[in-house]
Amino acid sequence: MNQVDYLRISLIDRCNFRCLYCMPEGAELDYILKQQLLTDQELLTLIQEVFIPVGFTRFRLTGGEPLLRPGVVELVRQIAALPQTQDLSMTTNGFLLAPLAQGLYDAGLHRINISLDSLQPDTFEQIIGNQGRGRWQQVWQGIQAAYAVGFDPLKLNVVVIPGVNDHEVLDLAALTINKNWHVRFIEFMPIGNGELFGERGWITSAQLRQSIAAQWGLNESQIRGNGPADIFKIPGAKGTLGFISQMSECFCDRCNRMRLSADGWLRPCLLNETGQIDLKTSLRQGVSTQELQHQVRKLLAIKPEINFQQRDSGTLGTYSRTMSQIGG
Ligand code: SAM
Repeated sequence: MNQVDYLRISLIDRCNFRCLYCMPEGAELDYILKQQLLTDQELLTLIQEVFIPVGFTRFRLTGGEPLLRPGVVELVRQIAALPQTQDLSMTTNGFLLAPLAQGLYDAGLHRINISLDSLQPDTFEQIIGNQGRGRWQQVWQGIQAAYAVGFDPLKLNVVVIPGVNDHEVLDLAALTINKNWHVRFIEFMPIGNGELFGERGWITSAQLRQSIAAQWGLNESQIRGNGPADIFKIPGAKGTLGFISQMSECFCDRCNRMRLSADGWLRPCLLNETGQIDLKTSLRQGVSTQELQHQVRKLLAIKPEINFQQRDSGTLGTYSRTMSQIGG
């Protein structure tokens, strides 16, 4: 088992998109009430006095949509300024990014993942739940702004849904040829989207690699990051292609992360919701940060056993939280 030193922090469970595969329109979502969200101060206390002492040094801010969190630039500044922070990154849908990109970069965020499931505005709007026209263009501007500001690596996350955007795999892969952009294909997971998954199924990374290799050839490569992605490169391309194959391959042995939800639940494995601990309530009840360190250490020690090995072993029935609630 790898050393677990990477924490994905959900800053907020709300999102301004309703992606088909993540938090579809009409799904019954109970948003966390504001008073249940970890405050900036609580989050900083947990990072400094609990997570860093037990060995976490790499942090990714996600959500929901992290750019919806009020004061996000200042929060980034404070986390980036901690001397123990070795790596800080963010996953965003990019919709609010253009005006914030420079401020985030100056605050200390230098690498970013932006979700982009389609290059076709109509398909994109269908995927994000028909939230209004012009959203693709605004996301594209966000990506361009992040590129101009100098985010590096700049990664584009793509979830491939059969019959929805799988016809665009080659076009999306081609983005890496002339620009130092890194496209990562993520296998579609059945979390909070049972109907769509049942109807459409998913496409393996191996299938995607086959079609990309048939077009251009494909070499193994590398890129800075913390993820379990397998990295390849189209020969001569400036950027890379990553494949995250959590459905077709078990990479528990490479897992180096835990997830903290916006309401303070620490989850040891994305697909295991039985072993979580509620750090926010403990903190508010006055439990000492030494005791919380102890609880996190205990969870770290059992992580290899409760990691997702069998898809059904980590849940009591269906998954009760969507990716946007967990902090994807
Ligand atoms: N709102 C931000 C965004 O769109 O990137 C951050 C949160 S989102 C939950 C983080 C990542 O999870 C996105 O790249 C999204 O595509 C991915 N994701 C969400 N649901 C998924 C699912 N069912 N299967 C695979 N990936 C999923």
